[in-house]
Amino acid sequence: MNPDPKKPARVRFAPSPTGPFSIGNARTALFNWLFARHEGGKFLLRIEDTDKERSKKKFEKDILDSLKWLGLEWDEKLIRQSERLDIYEGHLQKLLKEKRAYYCFCTPEELEAERQAQLSQGLAPKYGGRCLPLTEKEVALRLRRGDSAVIRFKMPDKRVVINDIVRGRVEFDTGLFGDIIIAKGLKKPLYNFAAAVDDVEMGANQVIRGEDHLSNTPKQIVIQEALGFSHPTFAHLPLILGPDRRKLSKRKLDISLGDYKKMGYLPQAVLNFLVLLGWHPEQDREVLSVPEMIKEFSLERVQKGGAAFNKEKLDWLNTYYIRQLPTEELLVYLKPFVTSAQLSKKKLLIRILEVEKGRIKNLKEFSGIVKFFFKLPAYKKEMLIWGKTDAKITLANLRGVLEIVKSIPSGSSFKKRVENRVMAFAEREGRGDVLWPLRVALSGQAASPGPLEILGVLGKIETVKRINEAIKKLDS
Ligand code: GLU
Repeated sequence: MNPDPKKPARVRFAPSPTGPFSIGNARTALFNWLFARHEGGKFLLRIEDTDKERSKKKFEKDILDSLKWLGLEWDEKLIRQSERLDIYEGHLQKLLKEKRAYYCFCTPEELEAERQAQLSQGLAPKYGGRCLPLTEKEVALRLRRGDSAVIRFKMPDKRVVINDIVRGRVEFDTGLFGDIIIAKGLKKPLYNFAAAVDDVEMGANQVIRGEDHLSNTPKQIVIQEALGFSHPTFAHLPLILGPDRRKLSKRKLDISLGDYKKMGYLPQAVLNFLVLLGWHPEQDREVLSVPEMIKEFSLERVQKGGAAFNKEKLDWLNTYYIRQLPTEELLVYLKPFVTSAQLSKKKLLIRILEVEKGRIKNLKEFSGIVKFFFKLPAYKKEMLIWGKTDAKITLANLRGVLEIVKSIPSGSSFKKRVENRVMAFAEREGRGDVLWPLRVALSGQAASPGPLEILGVLGKIETVKRINEAIKKLDS
């Protein structure tokens, strides 16, 4: 539900371009997007790139490409924090002037000594405010001298209560934070400050983000209050956990969205998978189209507990969507997985897809499977022989099948007629003795779709050619 139904919902997705776009990023983006679309509101995109060293254009591109691939189009102009430094500076100046923020010149060594002293007394470490009493004159002098300085926020000592839509009432004692650093200079705002300013300036009235940001929320609220702003409402999404219910392992599953794309997952399957990471529709259905997600999404149904990442479910959904998608549409997604020569034989590719699309878990698998249809791989003649049968019987059976195939004219009923006759022949001569060598003759491999399915894809001419090749191998 929109927190203030009088105002249209405005949510923002605020990724940092400091690494590949993760599954967690994608889930946050999707939940924001669904909320906005459900409410008829706006989904805004803000790139949090104030950290110059760690922010990279290639990661920004990854964010934009990933959102586009998922179909999560954003509204209004994209905002980059690096282009708004003057705005943050204005707000920093205001806080400095009003003495709600101050310059701090403490060195890392001094801060570390203070920390150790607090720890040794059993106290939770926090900045003790050593630079707070510095006079304006002293500060000006030291800044002019070029002493390195940061800007700290004078943390009020108060209770902040958040009525989080997902987590309910959460209370914080801001006194425990100490005076946090909000900028490393007038033109170098840090996350909590820039985000607090932007959420207000962008008119975001609902913040939806990962639970890992929960402890930032009271800090952002007090900053917004100090600037004289009201703050949005919050919804913190549950962490994504591995199947063992521990933090997602970077090496295994927490790979980027781009990696899943490269592995041949369809965006439809990924979206369906993501929406179930912490949310579920009524009646616990598992398969949802995007319009259904938009219709049914609500923050009230987001769970509090961690959401387990279940790779089998993703595979299952991908298999499902591959099978469901009209072949012509599937072909569009297949482009990166087949060679241009294969792509140019569209009709053959479509026939292959018709046979294979019910069998594959991802499109990458398809790129391996598809090859033998286009080009018969080299294989050893021994492979043609089924079990304990000998070459003579195998040869006779292949000749028998060849005669059947040759006798039936190609055309729309070719496959059906060959199938009936070959199956009758196989019943007579032994299924394994007939169908096994035919499978190997047509595919050059032991594992493949059924020989009659392959035969239907290859058509009469290619089938005859491949059986003849097998016969030649055995006959030599
Ligand atoms: N840049 C932060 C991140 O990527 C955004 C957090 C927020 O939504 O406020 O985690």
